[in-house]
Amino acid sequence: MGIIDENERLEELDKKYVWHPFTQMKEWLEEKPIIVAGGRDCFIKDIYGRWYLDGVSSLWVNIFGHRKKEIDDAIKEQLGKIAHSTLLGLSNVPAINLAEKLVQIVDSSFVHHPSSLTKVFYSDNGSTAVEVGLKMAFQYWKHRGADRKDSFLSLRNAYHGDTLGAVSVGGIDIFHKTFEPLLFKTFRAPSPYCYRCEIDREYPDCKIACLNKTEEILRAHADEIAALIIEPLIQAAGGMITSPRGYLKGMRELCDKYNILMIADEVATGFGRTGKMFACEHEDVVPDILCLSKGITGGYMPLAVTLAGRGIYDAFLGEFKDVKTFFHGHSYSGNPLACAAAIACLNLFEREEVIKSLKSKIEVLEAWLKEVLRLEHVGDVRNAGMMAGIELVRDKTTKETYGWEEKMGWKVAYHAREKGVFIRPLGNVVVIMPPLTISEQNLIQLLRVIKDSIVAVTEI
Ligand code: PMP
Repeated sequence: MGIIDENERLEELDKKYVWHPFTQMKEWLEEKPIIVAGGRDCFIKDIYGRWYLDGVSSLWVNIFGHRKKEIDDAIKEQLGKIAHSTLLGLSNVPAINLAEKLVQIVDSSFVHHPSSLTKVFYSDNGSTAVEVGLKMAFQYWKHRGADRKDSFLSLRNAYHGDTLGAVSVGGIDIFHKTFEPLLFKTFRAPSPYCYRCEIDREYPDCKIACLNKTEEILRAHADEIAALIIEPLIQAAGGMITSPRGYLKGMRELCDKYNILMIADEVATGFGRTGKMFACEHEDVVPDILCLSKGITGGYMPLAVTLAGRGIYDAFLGEFKDVKTFFHGHSYSGNPLACAAAIACLNLFEREEVIKSLKSKIEVLEAWLKEVLRLEHVGDVRNAGMMAGIELVRDKTTKETYGWEEKMGWKVAYHAREKGVFIRPLGNVVVIMPPLTISEQNLIQLLRVIKDSIVAVTEI
C-alpha cells in the first residue's frame, strides 16, 4: 500500500471508529482531520509530513516540547524495570521519589509561608485530582463532626473537569447545564470577569466588589459549605478570564474568616504557566488542598496529584473499625512510568531554569497583546504569564459578542492552521499557551500568524 493510500485509510478509519472529545462529530466527518504522526520541540507533524507549531501545548500539557530526551530516557529506563503496579496496598519507587520532590517544590515555592502541603494523593487526570480534592474536603468535615457542610462554593465561568463532581462545581452553561439534574448543590460566587462585570462595576474603582458578593453568600451559608474551589489567577477554560490583583488573596481571607477550606485547582496554571511555579505564589496564598496535573509530566503521561495539609490527613487517621479511610483510588494511581516522567520533568525545571527564562517571553507576549488590542474586533486581551486569551467581539464599543454558532474563534484557528500553526479557541476567545520552552523566535512566529489570522477573519 502506498503512503497516500495508507493516509486515506487512517482518515477513513478515524471517521468510522473514533468519537472525539468536545467535538461535534457531524462537522468532523465533513472535515479533513489533522492526524498527528510525530513531533519535535514545539512542533507536531501530521501523516503527510506537514509541521505545525503547537500553540496550545497539546491541550495545555506540554512544557519542554515533544520528544525531550531526558523525559524519553526516564520513561525508557523505568520501562526496563516495571511499567505499572498498583498503589492500593503496595508502593513503588518512582511514586515515593516524586512525592518527596513535589512536597519540596511546593514548600520552596511558597517561601513566605512554609507550606504544610505534605501529603500527596495520586490519580491520573485533572478531573480526578479535583474529585479527590472535593471528596477529601467533604469527608474531612464529617470527621471533624461538621455534619452540615454538604456543599461547595465555586465560581461562575469555572471549569474543573468533566466528571460529575467536577461538573457540579463548574460554571460554564454550554458545557454543564445539560447535566444539572445529576449534580450536587453548589453555591456560585461571581466570576472576576472585569471586562464583562456581573455586578456592573469597574476595576479598580470597584475595589473588587465581587468579593463582597461572595462574602454575602458565606455570611448566610458558610456552615453548609465544605470548601471553596477556585482556579487561581485565571479561569482558563471559561475564556482565559484573569482576576484582578488582590482577588485571590481576598478569597483566601474569606475562607479563613468563614472557616471553609480552600481548594486551589492548579491543573492548568501549575508548573510555570503563569510565570511562577504555581499561580497561588503571585498573591502569597497557600491553599488547604492543591490539585495538579497536565504539566506535571511535561505533557507525556496521564498523572495527577492532590496535595493536602497535615491537618486534613490526620483527620482521616483512626482504627480500621472507625471507617475513617479515604475510600478513593484508581487503577493507575501513581503509575510508575508517569511518575518517572514527572521526576524527569521536575529535574528539567531546575536544570533549565525554566521559570527564570519565562520573563522575557512574557514581555514579548504582553507587548504583542497590547498591539492586538488595537484591532477592530478585539474587545479584550488577557494573560497570566504564558497563558493568554484574545476576546473577539462584533462591536468594540458595545462589546457585542459574535454568536457561538458563528465560530469566529474556530475560523481564526482554521486560518492559522493553513499557515502552519495549531491553536484551539474557547468560543470567541483565541487561546495562546505554547510549550514553556518555546524559543523567542518561534513565539514571535506564532504571534505573527495569529494576528494575521485574526485580521483576515474579522476584517473582511
Ligand atoms: N481543572 C482545570 C483548571 C482545567 O483547566 C482542566 C482541563 N482543562 C481540568 C481541571 C481537567 O483536567 P483533565 O482534562 O485532565 O481531566
